[in-house]
Amino acid sequence: MLISELFYSLQGEGKRTGFPSFFIRTNYCNLRCKFLGGNLCDSAYTSWDPKDKRNLGEMDISLIISKYKEYYPVDVVITGGEPTLQMKDLIVLCQKLKEIDSSIFITVETNGTIIGDYVQFIDLVSVSPKLKSSVPFGTKHEEKHNKDRLNIPVLKFLNKLYNEGKFDIQWKFVICNEKDVNEILELKDKVGFKNSNVFLMPEGVTAEEINQKRLMVVELCKKNFFNFSDRLHILCWGNQRGY
Ligand code: SF4
Repeated sequence: MLISELFYSLQGEGKRTGFPSFFIRTNYCNLRCKFLGGNLCDSAYTSWDPKDKRNLGEMDISLIISKYKEYYPVDVVITGGEPTLQMKDLIVLCQKLKEIDSSIFITVETNGTIIGDYVQFIDLVSVSPKLKSSVPFGTKHEEKHNKDRLNIPVLKFLNKLYNEGKFDIQWKFVICNEKDVNEILELKDKVGFKNSNVFLMPEGVTAEEINQKRLMVVELCKKNFFNFSDRLHILCWGNQRGY
């Protein structure tokens, strides 16, 4: 499996914020987020620069599992990049983790553009649909990113499986400014997700940027009955790798 990094930390966002977790960050993404204001995503070394020499490269799933066992927390977070790009390996990885111990809590963090059978092995799908404010305007990726960033049938299907009780779900949105909420409300109408599963988070790759946007996002949450999530890892470590 193509891996960017493996590390042990605390979950920094969403429903399981603060939970000790082993992170499996896969390499490569099908999108290229560049947020309003100019920041690339906080793991650009998996998307914009997947050939970064610090990425771990191809790893046997057995080796990934043995690294997990060095720490053995309840939570495993499979993130990216976009983990669903490596669907076959993702399914095997989830199966193997559940074979070790069925109470391991697996979260897969996805941009929600690809569906696959991994969902039957996991506990929480953390979907982060990408809004217009993520489009890398003026770059060669602009057109493809804008075309691919929202896959409504996939988002609806994930929400349907959640409603059938197959897994828990959360919808996380990075907020650059107040206008982002209009697109989230349109998406909510199309997909049908519940407010109680929505988390709005301030965009930024430094604690300073998060601090500047926090109050604006808190007010949007209050007004629209969405949840607020800080981004603990950015507040503690900025966008350094391995945290
Ligand atoms: S979808 Fe996620 S990993 Fe991919 S470019 Fe956007 S923020 Fe980065």
